[in-house]
Amino acid sequence: MTFTINNLSYSYKETEALKDISFSVQSGEFMTIVGPNGSGKSTLLKCLDRILKYKEGSIELDGEDLKRISLRKLSRKIAYVPQKDEIISSNTVFDVVMLGRKPYVEWNITNDDIEVVSNLLDRFDLTSLAMRDINTLSGGQKQRVLIARALAQQPEILLLDEPTSNLDLYHQSKIMEHLADLSNEGLIIIVAMHDINLALLFCTKAVMLSRGSLFAIGGKEIFTKENIDSLFKTTVKIVNQDNQTYILQQRILKYNS
Ligand code: ADP
Ligand code: MG
Repeated sequence: MTFTINNLSYSYKETEALKDISFSVQSGEFMTIVGPNGSGKSTLLKCLDRILKYKEGSIELDGEDLKRISLRKLSRKIAYVPQKDEIISSNTVFDVVMLGRKPYVEWNITNDDIEVVSNLLDRFDLTSLAMRDINTLSGGQKQRVLIARALAQQPEILLLDEPTSNLDLYHQSKIMEHLADLSNEGLIIIVAMHDINLALLFCTKAVMLSRGSLFAIGGKEIFTKENIDSLFKTTVKIVNQDNQTYILQQRILKYNS
């Protein structure tokens, strides 16, 4: 599958949040979207799932215009995982994940639906929490439920908005490893990331956004000191060790007197 974004722009009432964004991504690629707060990461993900109705530009799935695909069919192709602090109505973990089956359910939930949900609960260590209300879970647990719900849609493209923010190191790695497994299974993963080191560790492709515009696009090689310093208005140090690149923050010495 090829997911192509052509000259996409999006404006809220007063804010031009995305300006002329173009890129494409293929099955099996793990793409991260990085950029400062307010650079348009969440807006871009919402346009890609047609949660926001963009007017300028086009998005294509294997050459088919996203706007011509029915919402039911679209939700079998693309799933979106919101930031964990988005409000979710009270429901058991099992039912929340089952909601992801909606694009497939005709009249009644089938054994197949139950099997898909049970397997996902198992995969994300949620079986023992299945009957708990989602709003009583910890941040990391809730995040895993939201990812399981998205995967219950059995999508080909998974969009995630900062899935690791507020998670401890163990859960950060675990979620990112899960996403890497899914991309190896052929899914397209597109994930907005706050943590550029984690992004760099896992991505095969990256988009850098600056004030709604495409700042850079490419593989891991775009994580240069020049790009990071200019994008985040900071002064980083790049360290290469054991075939891995690390971006270290440095103190800005403002007062030279
Ligand atoms: P990011 O996810 O990179 O932090 P966003 O996509 O949330 O950035 O925001 C991009 C720009 O759009 C910001 O200037 C933000 O203030 C604005 N914006 C986001 N959501 C809304 C909204 N619902 N209404 C108006 N402006 C918004
Ligand atoms: Mg955001």
